[in-house]
Amino acid sequence: MSQLGRTLRPRRDTSWEVHVAASCQTGAVPKGSNSVRRREPGTPDADERREYTTSELEVCANCDGPIAIDNRGLFCSEACHQMASYVRYARRVARDPARRDDPDVAEALRIRLAFVLGGGYPAAERKLTDAARAAVVDRDSGRCQNCGGPGDQVDHIDGSSNDMSNLQLLCDRCHRQKTTSNFTPAGPEATLLAIELQATRVAPDQPARPCDDEVRWTVESRWRKSARIKMLWDQVLEDTGTDRSEWVGWPWSEVVMEWIDRAGYGDGPGGAGEYGGEW
Ligand SMILES: [Zn+2]
Ligand SMILES: [Zn+2]
Repeated sequence: MSQLGRTLRPRRDTSWEVHVAASCQTGAVPKGSNSVRRREPGTPDADERREYTTSELEVCANCDGPIAIDNRGLFCSEACHQMASYVRYARRVARDPARRDDPDVAEALRIRLAFVLGGGYPAAERKLTDAARAAVVDRDSGRCQNCGGPGDQVDHIDGSSNDMSNLQLLCDRCHRQKTTSNFTPAGPEATLLAIELQATRVAPDQPARPCDDEVRWTVESRWRKSARIKMLWDQVLEDTGTDRSEWVGWPWSEVVMEWIDRAGYGDGPGGAGEYGGEW
């Protein structure tokens, strides 16, 4: 335990990479046949929940790299989250004869893989509110701005700005066409990564990582996330000699700043704001 604790604690000589983490949900696990969501065969039951070791909660579920302490999620970055999500999607498709041969699904896979190889889709940056989405649909009269058919997808015209002038309504077909027309051929490194992902994580019957498990991960990730949050809180309380009740109402990012301050760690975080996702 002491060794695990040491790797979690920030040290004076450590340079920090800080991300802004949104609040995480630690909702109850759906259990039994009363559950509203359909349970796939193989979905773990609540009684399969196990203890997670500190060392497995400290590292990214996708790449085993360290996760910043102000990030309460299970991935070190949005890119890693998306890579694991792509792997699960590809595994699901590969094991479903009906979808495996569907050209639309094949194209969706290709698009998702291209974003993974390109370092990830800026999902957090581009996240729109329901109101913004509705405003675009309204302004564009529900029509695809390319072909004039019914549109249902909000496209970022150029870059990630969420300004109304950079948003337009497109239909699924035109949106895909536009997306893929911007793709450039993968270089040798990206090609190698694609081959490696396919061979080591998509193809094998047994998932190589827990986050690759297309059946279990939805439930498993919830368990892990609440275990990680508990682990972080235990560390905060221990390092600051405080009680949980003293922190009621504190956003996590501020808890982390205070944690660093009170525990007397020399180096503060730098470069905030890279990570805004909620995973
Ligand atoms: Zn990672
Ligand atoms: Zn269209």
